[in-house]
Amino acid sequence: MRWFLALALVSQAPLTAGTAADIARAIRENGFDRDECYRVRDLRLVKEDLRIFLADGHLIFSKPVAGRRIAAAFVADVEGGDGEVILLPPDRAERRSLATYIDSPNLDEHIRSALFLFTGDDYDRLMSQMPNNPANQKAPEMAALLDEQWSPALRNIGVGFAPRLTLDLLDTGGLKNGLLTGLFSSPKLGNFDVTFDPMGDEQMVAGQVTARNGIAFFDIWTSFAARSFRMDPTLHRPEVVLRDYRIEATVNPDLSMNVVTRVKVRPTMDGAAEVFEISPQMTVTEAFVDSRPAEVLQRDSVRVAMIHGGNNQFLVVPSEKLRAGQEYEFEFHHSGKVIYDAGDRVFYVSSRGTWYPLHGTQFSSYDLLFRFPKDLDLVAPGDVVEDHTEGDVRTTRRRTPSAIRIAAFNLGNYEHARLERGKFVVDVCANKALERALQPRPERVTTALPPGIRNRRASDPLNEVQVTPPAPDPMARLRSLALEVASALEFMASKFGPPTLPHLTVSPIPGTFGQGFPGLVYLSTLSYLKNVPGPRMEGGESQQLFFQEVLQAHETAHQWWGNRVSATSYRDYWLMEALANYSALAYMEKSKGPRDVEAMLDSYRSELLAKGENGQTVDSTGPIVLGMRLENSQEPRAWRTITYGKGSWIMQMLRQRMGDERFYSMLAEVARRYDGKALSTEDFRALAASFLPPKSQDPKLENFFEQWVYGTGIPTLKLTYAVKGAAPNLRLVGTVTQSDVGDDFTAQAPVEIKVAGGRTITQWVTTGSTPATFTVALKQAPVRVTLDPHRGVLRR
Ligand SMILES: [Zn+2]
Repeated sequence: MRWFLALALVSQAPLTAGTAADIARAIRENGFDRDECYRVRDLRLVKEDLRIFLADGHLIFSKPVAGRRIAAAFVADVEGGDGEVILLPPDRAERRSLATYIDSPNLDEHIRSALFLFTGDDYDRLMSQMPNNPANQKAPEMAALLDEQWSPALRNIGVGFAPRLTLDLLDTGGLKNGLLTGLFSSPKLGNFDVTFDPMGDEQMVAGQVTARNGIAFFDIWTSFAARSFRMDPTLHRPEVVLRDYRIEATVNPDLSMNVVTRVKVRPTMDGAAEVFEISPQMTVTEAFVDSRPAEVLQRDSVRVAMIHGGNNQFLVVPSEKLRAGQEYEFEFHHSGKVIYDAGDRVFYVSSRGTWYPLHGTQFSSYDLLFRFPKDLDLVAPGDVVEDHTEGDVRTTRRRTPSAIRIAAFNLGNYEHARLERGKFVVDVCANKALERALQPRPERVTTALPPGIRNRRASDPLNEVQVTPPAPDPMARLRSLALEVASALEFMASKFGPPTLPHLTVSPIPGTFGQGFPGLVYLSTLSYLKNVPGPRMEGGESQQLFFQEVLQAHETAHQWWGNRVSATSYRDYWLMEALANYSALAYMEKSKGPRDVEAMLDSYRSELLAKGENGQTVDSTGPIVLGMRLENSQEPRAWRTITYGKGSWIMQMLRQRMGDERFYSMLAEVARRYDGKALSTEDFRALAASFLPPKSQDPKLENFFEQWVYGTGIPTLKLTYAVKGAAPNLRLVGTVTQSDVGDDFTAQAPVEIKVAGGRTITQWVTTGSTPATFTVALKQAPVRVTLDPHRGVLRR
């Protein structure tokens, strides 16, 4: 899924009259209170890890909303600013992340101005400090100016934050520790945000909205659990439990959709409202809780949407408070357009996993009913329990035999290839037509000399003609894809146990990506073609290999990694991609032999070592555990290259450390132990370590994870050696020298020693900033001594 999105325009959903709507409107229309403008000196605002000093300037508060003042603007009176923001990340990784953006591991910045939004007791805390300094006085002479300057910004930001602020303001008890967000302006860093949100998975987030080549990014400088949440993890927001989804969707002839989604919802704490997420392309028009109308509050905000992974949060406010532990039937009516025609009735589904209301991704059963134009096919997970056509409308209903994490769908004018393998059914759909973007264009071609003319003079006109190459056949690989997906599924099931659902549908999507949902895979239309058209293939051979060999197996592998086993947080999601991609490489190794796998690993290495505009390698953008935060304005390629490429290399290195048998037993154990559960990076480290051969160096893999998972760097390694003594008392003395990485970098590198008779000794050497020497006793002279002959360590 894409982390960034183009700056979306603010869309206003119709609101029914009600408390939440009134509060939200008041937030959007809020302005500053000219009677609440002060000359201020030395005020402090401390929120968890965030410290703000308003040393010298003017402060104006907003008018009250729901009885509370929820905003303030501060403007420094001193040239260059006299306010200060301090945020100290609690660990090395976050300090490092911050440093890549602001050249400092800590945020300590002088500011010119700040706009605050808050739902806690921040107003009272600021006002209580007023008597501390006689200079703190009302400043009516500045009130009009500040109001005029800052009210538009307040309203602008209020639109995006309205649902989130409303959620807190509905809580009539008042919050001690409510949300606080500050939008700061500093001479050095420009505009940046720091937010404390007690409802966030990581409550402290600092970052900046930036644009690069017309694309908006929210660069997350640092993100971490706030101090009191670090001390007491039970403070963490309890989750609402969702189960038993029933969705009725109508796809209209113009491809818009009208959907009714019903789901059972059990809150784990009392509350006036419940938060859900949905694609910004869907508008929730109505909601009911236990058949009684509830209020819906949906807004769009780039900043908020990007922090929450591109989705729109919306609130449902029932007529009565929700009680913890009680189960409610929620019903949503939503409509919008998530299907686009890419030409010739080849369709693109844009919101594949977010076309209905979600709260995180939770395991649930699904009953899916689709009504759609009868000339199309519509595929979705689950078994078909109803299928009939009346007039121009076909109705298909599916039920999942077990709980799945997400229900996607796809549609088109399909040709099918269906294969049964034991308990599994694979249904591969191909578009009958080719989308517009892949249609060949006429090319001007300079032809060879006409036959019979041997000597062409320079003055002769060139022989130019227009040629349209033959169109590729979008069904060319249908049969072979079905065979490959079925084989990949069988191979993986033999290694990891049964897939998430016994029926797997593979369907095409225009674009250069794939996505593997439970029981339904989207596969780039490029993977259906015999020869992938040239101009799209920037990566040359490895791209060709990826679309023709790897992608379908990668998406098939997500039936396990991501759908049976899930990730604990965004910091652990790399595991799903690395495991899926390496499973695909393992299948390729079995079906095609090791050469293609080596070519893929080599091309991943080149992509990791490629240099960006700043002269730094793509790898150095940040450690793999930053997940989607790697898709930032500094190096937009980083997320993809590091997650897939470095992720595959991490698995490859573990395999070389363990040996094949132990490595595959380890993967089987991950699939078994974390079936239906979330896997964290540390869980994976501990489990992998338990599969290392006895007496391995770095037995807990702590150093391995520190360098490759929590850190960056790709070393250059060089081996020198000499054989000393006389047989049978020989000693091989070797040295491995490391360069091109920081002083604290250390890796395990294998040295392979072949002796006569074919015997091989592998010596693992721990490298470091000083050359690492090692000694191996030998009875006879070595035939060959090689550093890392089997891609056991990622190196230059
Ligand atoms: Zn993937």
